[in-house]
Amino acid sequence: MLEDGDRGVIIQRDKQTYAVAPHLPCGVVSPEILRKIAGVAEKFGAAALKITSAQRIAIVGLKEEDIDAVWAELGMDPGAAVGLCVRSVKACPGTTFCKRGVQDSLSVGMQLADRYHGRAMPGKMKLGVSGCPNQCAETCIKDVALVGKPKGWTVLVGGNGGGRARLSQKLTEDLSTEEALELVDRIVEFYRANAKPRERVGKMIDRIGLDALRSGVVSQ
Ligand code: SF4
Repeated sequence: MLEDGDRGVIIQRDKQTYAVAPHLPCGVVSPEILRKIAGVAEKFGAAALKITSAQRIAIVGLKEEDIDAVWAELGMDPGAAVGLCVRSVKACPGTTFCKRGVQDSLSVGMQLADRYHGRAMPGKMKLGVSGCPNQCAETCIKDVALVGKPKGWTVLVGGNGGGRARLSQKLTEDLSTEEALELVDRIVEFYRANAKPRERVGKMIDRIGLDALRSGVVSQ
């Protein structure tokens, strides 16, 4: 029996089968990748393909003896679905596709995914990027998030959509893309240095105060 995370699997409710969810940065897929995932699901008799809330596609109901062959056939990396690390980055279409977008959330989300996806952290860390204040990427419940406004990026911290939900708080605003990415870097490093084991960003803020985080990471 495998554990969650072993060879990129997630144990299913029946305690006998597994799901795998390949890494799909910001949920963008090509027709080729969709065909490949569908082909693997058919070939290995998956029970379902499930679009997840983390903008991934889970292939559900696989047998343990097929897991290595499934990954070999996919030729993709597992999405970071479990464990204490940076999970998938959720990004909306932004100015790339959405008529309401005022900032390029998809391209910034891709850069964040490239930089942080799967990186070990004191606790689970979810990142999000929305291209306008409508916040379709649920940025108000992400640990660290960027929201596009006409003058630049607003940076939010401390959101959590779990059982004890917590809305994120504004750290600063009107940043250029470069400034926003640099600030996310500093927030991540501050979190790694200051959070207790398994403590989410919001819990850390509740313990030390938002001003302590702000003075540690925002340039004056
Ligand atoms: S947050 Fe704004 S830019 Fe992004 S999908 Fe929603 S409406 Fe479009």
